[in-house]
Amino acid sequence: MNQLIDKNDPKANTKSCFIVNNQFFLKSFSKLKEKAQKEDVILGKVFSVKDKVVVVVISYNVTKNCNMSEFAIIPIQNISKNFISDLKNGSLFNEGDIITAKIFEITKSDIILRTNESNLGVVLTQCNFCLKILLNHNNFICENCNFLNQKKLSKYYSL
Ligand SMILES: [Zn+2]
Repeated sequence: MNQLIDKNDPKANTKSCFIVNNQFFLKSFSKLKEKAQKEDVILGKVFSVKDKVVVVVISYNVTKNCNMSEFAIIPIQNISKNFISDLKNGSLFNEGDIITAKIFEITKSDIILRTNESNLGVVLTQCNFCLKILLNHNNFICENCNFLNQKKLSKYYSL
């Protein structure tokens, strides 16, 4: 797991460190490789959504049954079996969505994920517009503001 360090630590603001909510964490990439492998199922939270990539913070490795705290990415071509041209318009993921994904590849610098199976994708989400938690039985039309949300859902979305 990534170690929380003080903001005055000399390693803060270097490449061996990343920042979440103004807290500084040391990367622990070498240990990670023992812990995580290709095809492991993980739970994580969407950190940001860009045009061609979703940035995720992995919090738990379901396959290995252990906590993790690592950044990872889902490239646009790994999201769905269907072709997606642009993430911002499709809004299949939003910041804060809780997702399940599989590890596609671990490179020297990145953990790459994929959600292109029916069991993978968003397992808990809020309305894009008003942030109310969304219920599956409403077909993701928000019961508060009627906004129609489109997501790359996991079939295990249970609310
Ligand atoms: Zn809403």
